[in-house]
Amino acid sequence: MTSSVLIIGSMAFDDLELPSGVFSDVVGGAATYAALAVSRSARARIVAVVGEDFPEAVLDDLGDRGIDTAGVERKKGKTFRWAGRYSSDLASRTTLDTQLNVFGEFRPRLPPSYRDSEFVLLANIHPALQLEVLDQVVRPRFVAADTMNFWIERERPTLLEVLRRVDTLVINDEELRQLAGEHSIRQAARTVRAMGPRRLVCKRGEFGAILFDDHGTFFAPPFLLEASIDPTGAGDTFAGALLGALASAPEFDAASLRRALLVAAATASFTVEGVGTHRLAEVTASEIAARSAEIERSLRTTL
Ligand code: AMP
Repeated sequence: MTSSVLIIGSMAFDDLELPSGVFSDVVGGAATYAALAVSRSARARIVAVVGEDFPEAVLDDLGDRGIDTAGVERKKGKTFRWAGRYSSDLASRTTLDTQLNVFGEFRPRLPPSYRDSEFVLLANIHPALQLEVLDQVVRPRFVAADTMNFWIERERPTLLEVLRRVDTLVINDEELRQLAGEHSIRQAARTVRAMGPRRLVCKRGEFGAILFDDHGTFFAPPFLLEASIDPTGAGDTFAGALLGALASAPEFDAASLRRALLVAAATASFTVEGVGTHRLAEVTASEIAARSAEIERSLRTTL
């Protein structure tokens, strides 16, 4: 039976300045993207908090997709908000504003039905909340975490505690370098693995992702897009799809982890094709399978 993937992370309104235009109040957040990605292959359970301004219809839509939102609390106040501006080639972005709002006071309490979750994704949010959720899961088989420059700069000691308790860190290259204080990705990966996680996945946007584990280094190539619109949430989509693919794999070994990375790269490519979650929300299983297969073919060599 496919296992459930528990996700703690932000649910948000994003204000996006993209080369294609300015978009306000876009429903996003790490948990939203990750849950949509997990739901393609496994059952997602979200732990998060939203304010009074968050549309009930969005939660209903997640529920209709089989995503469990019993752990999403609605609180008095405003939903988490993030604003970002992308460069004209989409290769870099600047955070213009982060407002924690209802996340500032949030104390996550897991619904009893969530406690047996075998797969846990500590998606991007305050590391103290990541730890509180982890404490309440009974015996997880696999725990992955993501984080962001915002937390690396402000909450480093708590983040280091998270790292001691996770199997796998999924992080982008810039944040990996920042966390390790080293430029070389190879050295930075070694440094960060020594902080706790047995495996590290370094996301490199349009250049794919690199896994570092006890079996060596594995490059997951990207799916090359004809046109990119909005990379927001691509990293969260990647992490969610990775855990969803692992949770639905017949067994968990080095090969299934590598195959899951290709599915993750394929799924994340869809997120980039639309503003917010629009493209991800409508993508079909066969579209994801076709892109995964194309990525896999690109790995075969006749040299
Ligand atoms: P990504 O592009 O994968 O890094 O994820 C972008 C998403 O993360 C957006 O939808 C934001 O709402 C959310 N986000 C941005 N900053 C933070 C933060 N400091 N903590 C949690 N979530 C964040």
